[in-house]
Amino acid sequence: MTGEEKRIAFGPVPSRRLGQSIGVNNIPPKICTYSCVYCQIGRTHTMQVDRKPFYTSQEIAASVKQKIQGAKEKKETIDYLTFVPDGEPTLDRNLGEEIDLLKKLGIKIAVITNSSLIWKKDVRDDLLKADWVSLKIDTVDQEIWHHIDRPYRSLKLRDILDGILEFSESFTGNLITETMLIQDVNDETGGLEKVAEFISGLHPKKSYLSIPIRPPAETWVKPTSENNLNTAYQVFTKRGIDTEYLIGYEGNTFGFTGDIVEDLLSIASVHPIRKDGVVELLNKANKDWSIIAKLLHEDKLMEVEYNNKKFYVRKFS
Ligand code: SF4
Repeated sequence: MTGEEKRIAFGPVPSRRLGQSIGVNNIPPKICTYSCVYCQIGRTHTMQVDRKPFYTSQEIAASVKQKIQGAKEKKETIDYLTFVPDGEPTLDRNLGEEIDLLKKLGIKIAVITNSSLIWKKDVRDDLLKADWVSLKIDTVDQEIWHHIDRPYRSLKLRDILDGILEFSESFTGNLITETMLIQDVNDETGGLEKVAEFISGLHPKKSYLSIPIRPPAETWVKPTSENNLNTAYQVFTKRGIDTEYLIGYEGNTFGFTGDIVEDLLSIASVHPIRKDGVVELLNKANKDWSIIAKLLHEDKLMEVEYNNKKFYVRKFS
């Protein structure tokens, strides 16, 4: 195995979205169609939209097989093989062939893409082969898109949104969307309403609202506030979208552990809890409001309001 092959597959990494996943880094750092202001791998040094091969499909498969072997030896289960590179995975012209090869290993395939090339038929055809596809939709507004995602100059947002719609109509796997919310850039309620309207038409299995949790490419970037994140959640769910937060706490996916503090915090990491829901949880555990007062005091929870109702949300670290 060459040094390059060793760098391609990584993990397994535990994730709330995908269980135990082996990551496939099919793009060298950092080649992308975007240079998002919040990118955690820094500014994009090579921006391009033309697809090309970066590794051979055999190199990718060999690296992944070796990781699976290592995981098996440690008796770890693998739920997904996930294309999540240091750049945009659909820039890889071999993506479809790689998915075909990896599928033979009997593990489901996920791709996390910024959606920027989905207007190309060959990209859609490649993504159709995956079992789980996450599409980035930060905004549906041209100006905001330029501000937040800083696309390659020839890209057009209208083409991308049309491509996303077309893809959603034929994809039979799990379609996921992800929207990163940046303070004063794309977290204004009117804009969020439009994003939610667009996303609801895709009928995604799940929509994630995220905030930057690692140092962003641009130092001025700030995550949206807890208050605006709650508003975004309400706007999305009002449209019937199954929405969750991705804010850096993985939580315990809601089994009731019997530990009321842990349960409250892990639920609040995934979505806001309405006051009556909190009271119900406390009653079940035979506890009183002092627990909430303490969590508020310790800055672990925060009280926010939406439509004259109180919600409790996880305070960002
Ligand atoms: S699309 Fe992803 S990899 Fe590319 S710049 Fe944006 S956050 Fe970074």
